Amino acid sequence: MQANFPKSEGICIFCGKTFTKAGINRHLKSHLKKKEAELVEGKSYLVKVEVDPYGGSLPYFLSLWVDGDAKMGYIDTFLRDIWLECCGHMSAFSNGEISMGDMVKEVFYKDLSFFYEYDFGSTTELKLTVLEEYSVKADDDIVLLSRNEPLKWKCDVCEEETATQICIVDDEMFCGKCAKEHAKECGDFEDYASMPVVNSPRMGVCGYTGGSIDIERD
Ligand SMILES: [Zn+2]
Ligand SMILES: [Zn+2]
Ligand SMILES: [Zn+2]
Ligand SMILES: [Zn+2]
Repeated sequence: MQANFPKSEGICIFCGKTFTKAGINRHLKSHLKKKEAELVEGKSYLVKVEVDPYGGSLPYFLSLWVDGDAKMGYIDTFLRDIWLECCGHMSAFSNGEISMGDMVKEVFYKDLSFFYEYDFGSTTELKLTVLEEYSVKADDDIVLLSRNEPLKWKCDVCEEETATQICIVDDEMFCGKCAKEHAKECGDFEDYASMPVVNSPRMGVCGYTGGSIDIERD
């Protein structure tokens, strides 16, 4: 896979403007601060989800507004639905004290970071960081405030067209035209090794073909 990652940008759910991965959460905080002034009392949190073990350097991100009365298990379900679920693997928050039945407000505080693992074989490891705490109820248990828009990976062969498929045997990405060429020389590609490019860090892993929510951005 490429060392030069494609541009990572997300759209703000509140105002529809586009921001970089580095700038989106600072922007979201300004909206949530205003929400807090509306005085629907409760507890909620702005949570950043990134992809480890690469220190958050992969271009994927989610910005979530999580209600304090939600269960930690809702976060597990949400991450599976948007990024991870292939065939019902086990998952856990890697910080041993956090269990799925815990309430978010019993676990979260500003600046808490912890890890989450899906599938203990071909593991996808995510890092969650609680960026801010608010004294207002969230609009839902979990609200997707922003995520990286679909990334435009370049074809590894022609280095011009946007890639639409990957070969999991050769770990290469192809545009439609170059995929046809690759199928001629790679028997596995036609049999089982061709997978779609999807907007998830689990792309190309264990038959993952995309999420079940927010699918228009998959
Ligand atoms: Zn906005
Ligand atoms: Zn699987
Ligand atoms: Zn190509
Ligand atoms: Zn191949």
